[in-house]
Amino acid sequence: MSKSLQAIRGMNDILPEQTPLWRYFEGTVARLLDNYGYRQIRMPIVEFTELFKRSIGEVTDIVEKEMYTFDDRNGDSLTLRPEGTAACVRAVLEHGITGGGQVQKLWYIGPMFRHERPQKGRYRQFHQIGCEVFNLDGPDIDAELIVLTWRLWGELGIRDAVKLELNSLGTAEARARYRDALVEFLSARLEHLDEDSQRRLKTNPLRVLDTKSPDTQAVLVDAPKLADYLDEESRVHFEGLKARLDAAGIPYVINPKLVRGLDYYSKTVFEWVTDKLGAQGTVCAGGRYDGLVEQMGGKPTPGVGFAMGIERLVLMLEALDKVPEELARQVDVYLCAFGEAAELAALALSERVRDQLPNLRLQINAGAGSFKSQFKKADKSGALYALILGDDELAQQVVGFKPLRGQGEQQSIAWDALAAHLATCVVQG
Ligand code: ATP
Ligand code: MG
Repeated sequence: MSKSLQAIRGMNDILPEQTPLWRYFEGTVARLLDNYGYRQIRMPIVEFTELFKRSIGEVTDIVEKEMYTFDDRNGDSLTLRPEGTAACVRAVLEHGITGGGQVQKLWYIGPMFRHERPQKGRYRQFHQIGCEVFNLDGPDIDAELIVLTWRLWGELGIRDAVKLELNSLGTAEARARYRDALVEFLSARLEHLDEDSQRRLKTNPLRVLDTKSPDTQAVLVDAPKLADYLDEESRVHFEGLKARLDAAGIPYVINPKLVRGLDYYSKTVFEWVTDKLGAQGTVCAGGRYDGLVEQMGGKPTPGVGFAMGIERLVLMLEALDKVPEELARQVDVYLCAFGEAAELAALALSERVRDQLPNLRLQINAGAGSFKSQFKKADKSGALYALILGDDELAQQVVGFKPLRGQGEQQSIAWDALAAHLATCVVQG
């Protein structure tokens, strides 16, 4: 196939074999968020470029090199959203739904776009589920976000495979004081820093803490610690969060080097990481961004949120063999009809059954095919039962009812009794 007729590198089709697991994951998260009182918001996937520059920060990996930016036909610069928070803040401001201190607990789901080097767990179109909470400034809400993700890991059966890393970045002022101290320390040791860190030292010095270079890491051992520069308010907030996590029995480690790649964070930052996915180990990340709404033109409005990467979590469920068995079966009953008259009857009969059992997953064979080939399809569908409707059955107004998974002999069921019979033998979700 010519390259222009293939999918764009790093942008994947999610095939029918994979969608049941995606829907299971998404459904599990959606139900959990509903139960915690979070409401879904849906934003466009394209926004003005300026929105992301202003919120994420000009000197960040995302804005500097990862955005899909293009000119609209009327000359506006637009960008495919690289993350959800900026658009969510834009939306709540535009609709005034956080005004007057109104609390909003929101969640979103959808594709995000970043021009990164595609590899396992890292794509150019990927999907996130995220939460954003506005107008609550206490550590209790930071704790709630963490507690609900912890519950999610429990429901998915992956708790043992994830670890919570926590840090506090303090207020903007505390961070500015720390930044000065860090720059002074690192500037005196410039020749020992890797090239990337030398550049970051000028543009976004805190990101040096994030370095993968062993030489730079060695220099950082004696560097000033952000924790020593925390303002009192942030320190108390952080202690409050830790106390709540302790009370909830959620294990965590403090990672003083956790700074996150976006500029808008303050106070709490956290990441859920795993060692089951190789280099792409962060499955969920977030933090507090109390200054962001104001920075985007709103009234001062505290905010906190997280986003999880669906691809990475789906990969994890597969790697840990946590794919629920029932996902393999998408069909309960497979109806095979033979001959034109029987096919007509099958359509009417299946619709009658659906009227009575709206949750039954009933698949009806389409078109011709020998008895043998239809049976093969019935078996391959994973269905528990096949229904057989040929000329003989038609004449007697019955169907052959054949268990496909070794649960007894084939029997004959009258059309009128079929729905009731199926209700007794198919467990409906
Ligand atoms: P990383 O350090 O892995 O690049 P990040 O800090 O850039 O992650 P965030 O912006 O915090 O990521 O996004 C939240 C989550 O979205 C990540 O923890 C990850 O699970 C997922 N994610 C981010 N970028 C990608 C990507 N390119 N492909 C797949 N998932 C991604
Ligand atoms: Mg990244």
